[in-house]
Amino acid sequence: MDSINFKDLLKERGYKLTPQRQAVLDIIIEHNGEHLSTEEIYALVKEKYPDIGLATVYRTLLLLDDMDLVYKLDFDDGLSRYELNNKNEDHRHHHLICLNCSKVLEVQEDLLDTLEEQILTKNKFKVTDHRVKFYGYCEHCSEKE
Ligand SMILES: [Zn+2]
Ligand SMILES: [Zn+2]
Repeated sequence: MDSINFKDLLKERGYKLTPQRQAVLDIIIEHNGEHLSTEEIYALVKEKYPDIGLATVYRTLLLLDDMDLVYKLDFDDGLSRYELNNKNEDHRHHHLICLNCSKVLEVQEDLLDTLEEQILTKNKFKVTDHRVKFYGYCEHCSEKE
């Protein structure tokens, strides 16, 4: 997402591109794959813009989510986490959540094509997207068991 594009998207919605809004998006781009929480994003943006408030970060994230630039994630830890909506991905990647250390891994392969075909045949339901979370134990934690 280049800034010109982001600026236009904001303008369409009647918002201005402020350095703070740009900074929030930049942090998510820089930390792609880390699934940062609102508080973590706030702490990182604050390093650059010490005056920014949590409410501004929070509202910017809602806006980015609404504009489909980011995805809001829920890993059942009570936190809202965000990642970039990577338009190059045909499908969303899947998340593997470790029940022991809470580490989140990503699976890039889409393993659900066959399932989606079955759903279309059996349920006459056309799947366009899915959000999958797998729970279990990461390599490190299963070795310790
Ligand atoms: Zn992810
Ligand atoms: Zn683990």
